[in-house]
Amino acid sequence: MPDRSAPFRSEIIPAHQVKINPVVCPRCGGNDLMLFGQMSFPHHEVMEAGVITSKETDWNVKENFELLAVDCLRCEVRYHIQSDENFLLAKTNAELHDKVHVLSGRGNRPC
Ligand SMILES: [Zn+2]
Repeated sequence: MPDRSAPFRSEIIPAHQVKINPVVCPRCGGNDLMLFGQMSFPHHEVMEAGVITSKETDWNVKENFELLAVDCLRCEVRYHIQSDENFLLAKTNAELHDKVHVLSGRGNRPC
């Protein structure tokens, strides 16, 4: 097992590259992972005359985990998961920035 106190390298990947059920590393297919995400639960509040008079959260709902990142302990990489649409927009945006820099004579942006 690698030294978990050392920082992992970061990569952003589109959601379609992440295999779930079970989750495996998008690169090596390994399953020694740490999963990061958010849990959400149904919640409602009642307001009467602008004052919250009751609150209720249903903590019994299952399958409400949104996977946001995966650390592969073998590859030592944290994969940040973006929706396919956001990944494509970020990639297109970076390509456009590169073209602007080339066209403006400033060359490629630094690595
Ligand atoms: Zn891996």
